[in-house]
Amino acid sequence: MTTPADPWGDQFNHEERALLAPFVTDLDAPIFGLCNLPEVVKGALFSRYSRTDKSLRRILLDEFIQAPESGFAAIVGSARENGADQLVAVRQAEAFYERVLIGYGDDSVAELGGAHVACEGVSNIAAKALEDARIGISPLEKSTRYVVFNRKLAGQYRYLREPGIMASAYACAYQSALDGLFDTYSALLDPTIAAVRAHSPRDAQTSERAYASATRAKACDLLRGLLPMATLTNVGLFGNGRAFEYLLTKLYASPLPELRTVAGAMQHALDALIPSFVKRAKTERGQAQQAYLRAMRERVAVVSREYQQREIADSAARSLAAEPTGVSLVEFDPDAEAKVVADILYPHSDLPLAEVRALAAALPAAERLAILRAYVGERGSRFHKPGRAFERPVYTFDILADLGAYRDLQRHRILTQERQHYTTRHGYVTPPELVAYDLAAPYAQAIERASTLAEQIAAELPEPAQYAVPLACRVRWRISINLRAAYHLAELRSSPQGHPAYRQVAQAIYAHIRAVHPTLAEGMRFVDMGDYALERLDAERRLDAKLGAQPQ
Ligand SMILES: Cc1cc2nc3c(=O)[nH]c(=O)nc-3n(C[C@H](O)[C@H](O)[C@H](O)COP(=O)(O)OP(=O)(O)OC[C@H]3O[C@@H](n4cnc5c(N)ncnc54)[C@H](O)[C@@H]3O)c2cc1C
Repeated sequence: MTTPADPWGDQFNHEERALLAPFVTDLDAPIFGLCNLPEVVKGALFSRYSRTDKSLRRILLDEFIQAPESGFAAIVGSARENGADQLVAVRQAEAFYERVLIGYGDDSVAELGGAHVACEGVSNIAAKALEDARIGISPLEKSTRYVVFNRKLAGQYRYLREPGIMASAYACAYQSALDGLFDTYSALLDPTIAAVRAHSPRDAQTSERAYASATRAKACDLLRGLLPMATLTNVGLFGNGRAFEYLLTKLYASPLPELRTVAGAMQHALDALIPSFVKRAKTERGQAQQAYLRAMRERVAVVSREYQQREIADSAARSLAAEPTGVSLVEFDPDAEAKVVADILYPHSDLPLAEVRALAAALPAAERLAILRAYVGERGSRFHKPGRAFERPVYTFDILADLGAYRDLQRHRILTQERQHYTTRHGYVTPPELVAYDLAAPYAQAIERASTLAEQIAAELPEPAQYAVPLACRVRWRISINLRAAYHLAELRSSPQGHPAYRQVAQAIYAHIRAVHPTLAEGMRFVDMGDYALERLDAERRLDAKLGAQPQ
């Protein structure tokens, strides 16, 4: 297919073409990409679209490449020779980019440039805070399934020695209890792998590579409950400037010193890459926003104190730790089916929504089902998702599950999630496999010791105490999710290779929706309700097939 010529009739002479060539994927086509340009230049360039009739290539040439105040030659020239100089050049030309961005853009202009930031050696509490950003940030975190967490650095296990705790009378007990968790993790690793292998022997169709990977992953899954929230990990984030700016603002407003330190360090990294896009996190406006977030938290802490006293009186009769792990459906719309049907019909009608709704509500059940089935069709895989009409019903779930499961499910973004404190009050979960392998006693002992300590610290230092809470402990959180996102979550997170803790939550979410809205759940064909001894095995066998490996 030939691409049409430049629709703006821009003519570039030979010299201009040579200047532009390194920075565009095509000199003539109307659809082209930008390359070899720093993020701030790309963002500023796009921001001009809203105020000019010129083509982007013309703007690039006239207003950037050939404008001395843009610092273009220094920024781009030094990029080729020395990356460090490029950062200096970006900073030197910041005033120019500020002017362009402020002059021609609104807040969303900061979405036009992005950055990759590595956050290494942050606690699991910080990792969750970083991953709490939903729009505009894509995180990736070191896995507790594929990486063992018992390596020491300079003779010490890698967990956060939280400054508040280290300055308190609990410093020694904190280190001793957390060392105990890591020692137990280390001591149980080989026996757990051996027990997994003994209980699920390799068959002739499975290669040793696939089997070794699957059994080791299973052992890591079983032992991850021993890791405390203080465990240090690595998180890589790719995001746009606007999302980073908001994330920084939230982190600066945190009550936890670690998060404020992480914010400062991230700001430093981002200032070198996309300074104009993130600077407001620390300006007067950013500080006012931080103050607003802090004050909101503090006001609610005050008003909720009275209710906490009542809760304590109410819960005195029941043991919080004895509550069953599980998922409760707290809210759903009993009229959802008719509303979804109306939303399906709406784009094909020219009536107002209220009238389409009245029509759908009056339809016999069989006709409504036929419309739903026509909409969902034959889904060939979980990637075939029904459309936006399925975003109408929203379900609210209250979940009590171990922190490991929360850690995994928290990563979903197309929903609303909010959790309570990381605490030991709801007890902890012991994987039944460890009981079957006769390895549960040391596991329980280490977790109970850390839990007791976390409770003691919490009486004095409630925020820092969260670092001592092991991942085996249960946390309560709510999820409000629309049906379309629930299809995605329940199908993805019930897949056989997933961790059993979050598979159970995904399966329960599906079962609840099916119970109240059977016709709407009918299309959720890819929820896997099975149980698997070696969750990773099938995925490893598929990897073998890709690698062309033979069973050994
Ligand atoms: C088997 C398995 C192993 C995993 N291992 C790891 C691991 O080792 N490390 C790790 O960090 N995470 C891991 N994850 C988590 C994973 O990276 C996702 O964060 C998580 O599964 C949420 O899925 P999602 O992004 O599809 O869902 P949601 O965030 O709920 O998003 C739903 C859908 O919306 C779209 N969407 C949402 N946001 C964006 C965006 N910014 N850009 C484009 N499209 C978007 C996508 O289509 C997405 O599927 C693992 C997940 C699974 C299932």
